[in-house]
Amino acid sequence: MQTPVPDYLDEVRETCAHEGDDGEVASYIPELADADPSLFGVALCTIDGTVYASGDAEHRFTIQSISKPFAYALALADRGLDTVLEHVGVEPSGDAFNEISLEQSGRPRNPMINIGAITTHALVGDADTTPADRVRRIREGLSAFAGRELEVDDAVRRSELDTASRNMALAYLVHAQGKLEGEPHDAVEGYIEQCSLLVDVRDLAVMAMTLASGGRNPVTDEQVVPAWVCRQVLAVMATCGMYDAAGDWMSTVGIPAKSGVAGGVLGALPGQVGIGAFSPKLDRFGNSVRAVRTCERLSRDMGLHLMQAP
Ligand code: GLU
Repeated sequence: MQTPVPDYLDEVRETCAHEGDDGEVASYIPELADADPSLFGVALCTIDGTVYASGDAEHRFTIQSISKPFAYALALADRGLDTVLEHVGVEPSGDAFNEISLEQSGRPRNPMINIGAITTHALVGDADTTPADRVRRIREGLSAFAGRELEVDDAVRRSELDTASRNMALAYLVHAQGKLEGEPHDAVEGYIEQCSLLVDVRDLAVMAMTLASGGRNPVTDEQVVPAWVCRQVLAVMATCGMYDAAGDWMSTVGIPAKSGVAGGVLGALPGQVGIGAFSPKLDRFGNSVRAVRTCERLSRDMGLHLMQAP
């Protein structure tokens, strides 16, 4: 008899927890340094909208970089592929997430690193959208992906804004290259608010399954973005989503994914499953140690690798 999914998830979580938790909690945003390193949750969402969860599944944490593919999706839906590609490329950078990764043309290399994500943030809406309306559009858009209203963690937002010199510098640089719309300061402020949205692993699993279902949220049935947008977003996640470990991740886990510095990882396998995992300690690439281990297990056990012939 097959193990029921909840028991299986408990077993995976316990095994991955016992394998140890080397790594460090992110501290460059002061407020994140206080995270409880023992927290560990995992959730799966299937194509019919069933969500299975284990561990600290109700604990909320800031979405951070996992917001990047969703802001990219909204920018694509609002502005079209050609306009977005004029401003941000789709090539893996091979650099750290906060590097000055620009192409010769002055275009940030991809939307999954900070320089490209700040540029992408500024593309959401249209040329007349105010910074406040843009943030609202992003909050509502990400909420539609999650199927519930997401809120901002104001303490984390303020903490990041107080230490945002590097992101400000990146934004001014892209602005000087003529690739950033609007004011650099507004773009960084809005981007930081976008990163401070609170989610739990269930939210991540549903958001992932929405991307993996061609933009239709399997729980609310809302078509959040068109299907072509999801194909573009998943392709960029597959090549650029896991910081500098993207190649290693694609060969071992084989699922388009995105991680964030608060310790979340989201994985989206087209037409099949959405995964959300969270634990605060990060490896040297900035990916959650336990969440990565969990995804490796799930991929192996369930045969989720994209490149694996059926
Ligand atoms: N808000 C964070 C930053 O811009 C996100 C980084 C991340 O999750 O990789 O530094």
